[in-house]
Amino acid sequence: MTGLVYKSTGSWYTVKTELGETYECRIKGKFRIQGIKSTNPISVGDVVDFELETDNNQVSGVIYNIHDRANYIVRKSVNLSKQTHIIASNIDQVFLMITINNPPTLTSFIDRFLVTANAYSIKTVLLFNKIDAYDEETLDEVRYLAHVYRNIGYECIGVSAVTGKNVDKVKALMHNKVSMFSGHSGVGKSTLVNTIEPTLNLKTKEISTLHSQGQHTTTFAEMFDLSFGGKIIDTPGIKGFGVVDMDKEEIGDYFPEIFKLKRDCKFNNCLHIQEPKCAVKKALDNDEIAFSRYRSYLQIVEGEDEHYRTDNWEK
Ligand code: GDP
Ligand code: ZN
Repeated sequence: MTGLVYKSTGSWYTVKTELGETYECRIKGKFRIQGIKSTNPISVGDVVDFELETDNNQVSGVIYNIHDRANYIVRKSVNLSKQTHIIASNIDQVFLMITINNPPTLTSFIDRFLVTANAYSIKTVLLFNKIDAYDEETLDEVRYLAHVYRNIGYECIGVSAVTGKNVDKVKALMHNKVSMFSGHSGVGKSTLVNTIEPTLNLKTKEISTLHSQGQHTTTFAEMFDLSFGGKIIDTPGIKGFGVVDMDKEEIGDYFPEIFKLKRDCKFNNCLHIQEPKCAVKKALDNDEIAFSRYRSYLQIVEGEDEHYRTDNWEK
């Protein structure tokens, strides 16, 4: 039988078949998958093959195979710095929720998020939330940012989780897809998900309370079916993705506008900082690249935002 992992609690996995039957499954033997050293061999979102077993009239499953992953996101373990925990796999898209104020979302945060999502091959859609509460000047800021990110290929939607404005557009994108929501605490993730699917009661809130009390509970992602078709992965307590180790030369590849230009640079290992005849610097001088994006690029290359890598993974 084949099914999708909806939940994992360490040694047991809740697996749902295409017919909608749910089984509690264990793993047979040891798995080593795609060269990742992780604390968990299987995550939410994995497609697995399993066989049924009956023990004392109790039916359960034994997983013996995992299908190749389209993508996956990880978090480094807090205690064992070298260990990686796979949070979820096979994610179709992540909605990055952004607010201009209450709380503010900095472009450096957005850009780092996009670089990481890109490195993980996960499509990101930008949602500018709370547009019902903004004055004209703040709305101009939303329009400007949407313009910057649309120009480099990202879909941007201004929404209000409270009034429901444009929520139908978000739902249309979620139809028959596996989605995740990310963004700072307080941007409105729970409110939006609640507007989208009122019967879902995601855990985002409770866990962040736990964390603020200094408790380090291990939290597991969980997948939920949407009534209108599609799935959502709830990742309690996880704000961003663990950072992928990348070489300096690689970082520009995850900025679509830099990636597009780099072949026109004189040096093929150009870091677009001081080098002569750099196509990226030229585009910047001609206002073809947003300065905020270039600034974020520099911060990442020069490692100035090192604090994002460790402190800000969790709420
Ligand atoms: P989360 O931490 O990202 O899950 O954020 P919440 O969903 O808990 O929302 C944080 C606060 O923002 C709550 O007081 C919400 O009522 C408020 N909020 C969320 N979405 C909107 C919105 O679209 N407009 C306005 N005005 N407030 C919102
Ligand atoms: Zn260059």
